[in-house]
Amino acid sequence: MVQSIDRSQGRATGGEIGNASAAPATFTGNRALQIEEPLIFEMGQPGRCGVDLPEPAPRSPGVKDRLNGLRRAGDIGLPGLSEPQVVQHYTRLSQKNYAIDMGVYPLGSCTMKHNPRINEKVARLPGIGDLHPLQPVSTVQGALELIDRLAHWLKTLTGMPAVAMSPAAGAHGEMCGMMAISAALEARGERAQRKTVLAPESAHGTNPATAAALGFIVKPIPANERGRVDLTALKAALGPDVAAIMLTNPNTCGLFESEVVEISAAVHAAGAYFYCDGANFNAIVGRVRPGDLGVDCMHINLHKTFSTPHGGGGPGAGPVVLSAALAPYAPYPWIVKDGDKWHVAEDEAKVEGKPLGRLKAFHGQMGMFTRALAYIMSHGADGLKQASEDAVLSANYVMAALQDVMSQAFEGPCMHEALFDDSFLKDTGVSTLDFAKAMIDEGYHPMTMYFPLVVHGAMLIEPTESQAKEDLDLFLGALRSLTAKAKTGTAAEAFKAAPLYAPRRRLDETLAARKPILRWRPSNNPPETDPVKQAAE
Ligand SMILES: *Cc1c(COP(=O)(O)O)cnc(C)c1O
Repeated sequence: MVQSIDRSQGRATGGEIGNASAAPATFTGNRALQIEEPLIFEMGQPGRCGVDLPEPAPRSPGVKDRLNGLRRAGDIGLPGLSEPQVVQHYTRLSQKNYAIDMGVYPLGSCTMKHNPRINEKVARLPGIGDLHPLQPVSTVQGALELIDRLAHWLKTLTGMPAVAMSPAAGAHGEMCGMMAISAALEARGERAQRKTVLAPESAHGTNPATAAALGFIVKPIPANERGRVDLTALKAALGPDVAAIMLTNPNTCGLFESEVVEISAAVHAAGAYFYCDGANFNAIVGRVRPGDLGVDCMHINLHKTFSTPHGGGGPGAGPVVLSAALAPYAPYPWIVKDGDKWHVAEDEAKVEGKPLGRLKAFHGQMGMFTRALAYIMSHGADGLKQASEDAVLSANYVMAALQDVMSQAFEGPCMHEALFDDSFLKDTGVSTLDFAKAMIDEGYHPMTMYFPLVVHGAMLIEPTESQAKEDLDLFLGALRSLTAKAKTGTAAEAFKAAPLYAPRRRLDETLAARKPILRWRPSNNPPETDPVKQAAE
């Protein structure tokens, strides 16, 4: 069937923008084995079905309609496809994803590290993989013990006395931790007065968003010329109105906050709490315990530091370690042991605290817990420490290898990620975005761009400990070649045309954000089948 819908917007058929190497257009829109994939609703034939189902028996006269008259009047509108068509469609779509299983994934602040296959093997053991969250507690004693054992190691690694396991992501953990802080302030009778949350200018967007969502006023704290929190500015901002500081350490510039102990002392002296964003924990596991730095609570992205898979929106897991002062407010459920039996405590009679309620259905992300525990136990204390050391070593290798051709944002060695600004692209006509798009043509997922905001045209590269040296070297070779090309001063047009080899070229991101087309409409409704026209309306 010839596709009747024009999906050519941004399609990477060749001949454009004066690039002689771009291939000519093909009849199908396919490029070699890269298939031009329609939406599933644009495929197939109405009425085609992958399974044979018997016709339902006719209703006997006089039997009441079981749906109480709510029978579907028209077609259900499911795409008509055979089983092989469905399998092929989703397999082809899956091949359009770039993934850590395919190559270097240098997305800074995301810790795209290898998910060891032992994690998957353990998570798929029938006794774990086939569990249902509504099973009677007596039948899931081992699973509850598994959650408790992971909790034990998270507390041990962070040097903190308690952990709330249920939050489903880092941002969710922030919400949990800041709700605990809010509850503790309420108990002190100071919630109304302490309305302000301090956050460094380099903070991840989720930090101010979390504070604002809980009704706090967010006050930014500037960075000093070393890329760390300006301690003097922080001290000046502290006062009886401050509830907490939200600080990432190592910070989002890839640097250890060397004055973190002074920061926590000043925050505590002002009667406020220290929320630590622990997304970058991978750089310090086994070497630094956040509890020793005066942290009151910190989320841990299991899907970053502890290697459980992420991307595409989930599932993640963001347990939050809590100080003794905040522990009583940890949300339900609490996994508690009574004699030799595990329980899921969900009411105040069964816990010693004042839980802030429930944040997540059931117990949290069981599959992620299992993978994280497998990771921790298979690495052991020495392996965890080595992983963080290797992550830092890799980032410094990247920094050193690119120092002469790209512009390092802050002097000195980095932690787990290397941050560059765009001054090396000055007067070339090439922007950070163009540079990142050109990386796609080289076969690499771009680094994090334009974050953190304290650096102009930021490029944040986090290689993690997973990459072999020769693979990193190839990646670095590609970056060096792109910098050389940009610096000729005549390549701006070529960079602006990138990516040439991706299934889609550059899309109109502004239009997509302003007028997202979230719903497919059938082609017998013509004005709405043209996505470009529809969006323009
Ligand atoms: C990833 C990240 C978060 C948010 O974590 P999610 O699991 O994506 O919600 C918060 N802060 C920093 C610094 C991060 O890198």
